[in-house]
Amino acid sequence: MVKSSMSASLYIHIPFCLKRCLYCDFVSGLYSPEKAAAYITALKREILTIPKTPLETLYIGGGTPTALQTDLLRNLFVFIFNRFHLNDTESTIEANPGTLDNDKLSMIHASGINRISIGVQSFNQKELAFLGRIHTSEEAEDVVLLSRKSGFSNIGIDLIYGIPGQDMASWERTLEKAVSLNPQHISAYELTVEEGTGLYTLLNKHTIQHPRPAPHSSDRIKPMEEERVIEMYNHTIDYLTSNGFVLYEISNFALPGYFSRHNLNYWNRGQYYGAGLGAHSFVEGRRFHNTDNLEEYIHLLSDNKTAVKESEDIMGETALFEALFLGLRKTEGIVVESLAKRYGTNILTRYEKELKELQDARLVELVSSGCAYETVLRLTRKGLLLSNEVFAKFLS
Ligand code: SF4
Repeated sequence: MVKSSMSASLYIHIPFCLKRCLYCDFVSGLYSPEKAAAYITALKREILTIPKTPLETLYIGGGTPTALQTDLLRNLFVFIFNRFHLNDTESTIEANPGTLDNDKLSMIHASGINRISIGVQSFNQKELAFLGRIHTSEEAEDVVLLSRKSGFSNIGIDLIYGIPGQDMASWERTLEKAVSLNPQHISAYELTVEEGTGLYTLLNKHTIQHPRPAPHSSDRIKPMEEERVIEMYNHTIDYLTSNGFVLYEISNFALPGYFSRHNLNYWNRGQYYGAGLGAHSFVEGRRFHNTDNLEEYIHLLSDNKTAVKESEDIMGETALFEALFLGLRKTEGIVVESLAKRYGTNILTRYEKELKELQDARLVELVSSGCAYETVLRLTRKGLLLSNEVFAKFLS
């Protein structure tokens, strides 16, 4: 068992989905009631090994947590809420619009979950079909409205841009529809092509079969050009900020007061426990993660063994590097002096050459925090648009 600390964040992973999406590389397999029941039994055993501590944030993600049947989900909530002290806790569940009805949503809210993050991805039916989503655009819209009716006052919508075949007009319509539904939070992620996914296979198959496809070939599928992806992101920032949203992290926008406390804890390099298949934890400077093999996970926990597969103490230079990488994702940036105090090294000295080049390229800037003797390092607008270049610079 890990030593207790004052308060913590807890992530719980539910590794089941009704169908695999084309682009997905999350730890998740196809849902079956039998597997889900065995998994929840194992998960509860693991949760009992986590110190009973007040929770600052709770995040139930996946996979698709809402793929679980209402009774099993309720049973899990009762277990968690009995185990931990939740007071002013931000408790989030990830939800797929194709797995929710009125009863399930009402139960989730009545159980004490106060934030719902809905995986909409697009309000364009063709794009949803391409991505392999199990829901329609209308169902996604209905679920946002139904969530509010069920009592949720903190609703997040996840969207994806850079989908092959998507044009700017379609992305604009998706953003407009999202805003018209009055969510408190919008995450807009660029579609990434991860090895091992259906999307990766599809794009490579086409490259191999059609090394020089005809310009108007109807079955030609290729990734979106980087320039167009950047244009879409640029428009996203303009549109959402002009509608009252604050861009507080590269991909995350929220109304004031609705920033995700759980995710901010990650970017601030705070401590968190993770339970479930493949779940990661970061406790007292140590990162560790569980096996991502479902059978092994269930087997280990049923034998009262740990599911932890790998662990590493993160110290010195690596810890500083992590803090830089994670902190720069936040638009408020990093307070240089606070980082120096926490990690014993001043990043302005340690990364002098890289930062000079990034400043010359206007990708990062150093500004006063408003407090005397405090300097903030943050991404510029150009740095946000080209954040991959910024991070690559530190890795080179
Ligand atoms: S619903 Fe989410 S976790 Fe499940 S396959 Fe699709 S993207 Fe992956």
